[in-house]
Amino acid sequence: MEFDLIIIGGKPAGASLAARLASTGLKIAIVEKDRVMETKVVSCPLFFSSGIKLMEEIGVQENIYTLPGSQMAGASLEMSTYFRTFVKMPTESGKNYVYGLNRKVFDKALWDNLSRFSNVERLEGFAVRDILKDEKGEMIGVLGRFRGEEEQKIYGRAVVGADGRNSLVARKMEAKVTEEVSAFNTTVYYAYWENVLPYEYEGKNWIQIHTGCDGFSFILIPAGNNLTGVLVQCRHDFFEAKEGVEKWYLEKLKSYPQVYRRLISAKQVSALSGIKNVPNLYRQAYGAGWVLVGDAYHQKDSYDGQGIYDALLGAKILAKQLLAWHAGTLSWNQAMQGYDAEIYNQTHAMFQETISRLKRELFSQPSPAVIKGPMRWLLTNENYLKQFSKLLTREIAPKNWAPKSVIIKAMLKGIVGSISKSSKKDSYPIV
Ligand SMILES: Cc1cc2nc3c(=O)[nH]c(=O)nc-3n(C[C@H](O)[C@H](O)[C@H](O)COP(=O)(O)OP(=O)(O)OC[C@H]3O[C@@H](n4cnc5c(N)ncnc54)[C@H](O)[C@@H]3O)c2cc1C
Repeated sequence: MEFDLIIIGGKPAGASLAARLASTGLKIAIVEKDRVMETKVVSCPLFFSSGIKLMEEIGVQENIYTLPGSQMAGASLEMSTYFRTFVKMPTESGKNYVYGLNRKVFDKALWDNLSRFSNVERLEGFAVRDILKDEKGEMIGVLGRFRGEEEQKIYGRAVVGADGRNSLVARKMEAKVTEEVSAFNTTVYYAYWENVLPYEYEGKNWIQIHTGCDGFSFILIPAGNNLTGVLVQCRHDFFEAKEGVEKWYLEKLKSYPQVYRRLISAKQVSALSGIKNVPNLYRQAYGAGWVLVGDAYHQKDSYDGQGIYDALLGAKILAKQLLAWHAGTLSWNQAMQGYDAEIYNQTHAMFQETISRLKRELFSQPSPAVIKGPMRWLLTNENYLKQFSKLLTREIAPKNWAPKSVIIKAMLKGIVGSISKSSKKDSYPIV
């Protein structure tokens, strides 16, 4: 089999890239080792309007990949038992909500979308084991097999590694890690639960983010059909599970009553998944005949829920450059240089913001006075929250998303409110 492009990985990065390139007539093979509806990707995602728009661009509407009961007005952010605040989704985009995704449903929608294109060959359940190289060491194709079958070779002019955080393409082509921040890595585990008590406020449903202000954080994400993803996250150096991760997970949940009260009549219905020490890094994006996209290229903590958006965005930028290469307007190196520069430019400031938030909220343990004072003044300030929700939905540039003027005004309002004691109206004590 011979193709213009072989894409390894059929999830957000790979499947959206294939969809963007399909209409151009490129002959594409997309290979995915998972079978549809048995996705093994470790992910328990929130999905913002930014991602919804990119999905619409490739012809996949939100009703196809979301389930009833998965649309939320935003997130309630609880700072231990000190205060809580509500991050409402911005209204400007016309989509003032956020989804909890079921990855099986989402991934299937992406995969099924490709059935429209006769020039896209979908190889489902096909695991790539190696990259084929010619005598000069240049990539010429891949070697792999369908479950239980003989190995076979697929030839192509270029290979795209859309194969996730443990990318085989990155390993085989020896892509270097070009940037890494490891001081604020976290460990995260989650499972899906049935019959979790809803989190309602102002007649709407919300995602619950409970920060213990002690290096631990909990996120409850309704994903539809009465299932809720329940995540426990902590600083990597606070993770200690000598008696097994399952026990650690349940014990942590039980020791935070604001979280556990919602689980008392609920039942854990999935196995536990997760990642220890989630990396925050960029890899070398490309080499002769190969390129990385999505998590294979750039990984970051899930704290701000940006991974799928970044993967879809990377695919969009890469598609544009691959077309220029295919048309002969740009050489491979020129096209890939352009891709590398643009995706880095469009993701790096957000990456730094996520790292800063991890540092502030999980790796610093502020005193009660700071939490009840400056932190509450900021996090309950309407303008600050609006900016924050626009950051998450990428409606404003991450760099300088909270200008000094917004912070100073929020602080002044908080101080005045504290003096007059009227600020209590702004906060919502949990207990
Ligand atoms: C706990 C957790 C929570 C998260 N929460 C969020 C969130 O709230 N919002 C958000 O947007 N993102 C979230 N993410 C991140 C998000 O899941 C990833 O960023 C996203 O899945 C990346 O998409 P991708 O297409 O690059 O890679 P993946 O989704 O990992 O897909 C890669 C695919 O490549 C396939 N593959 C790998 N190797 C081979 C091979 N050799 N042969 C064939 N196929 C292969 C795999 O089977 C896989 O299906 C979270 C991640 C974690 C771990």
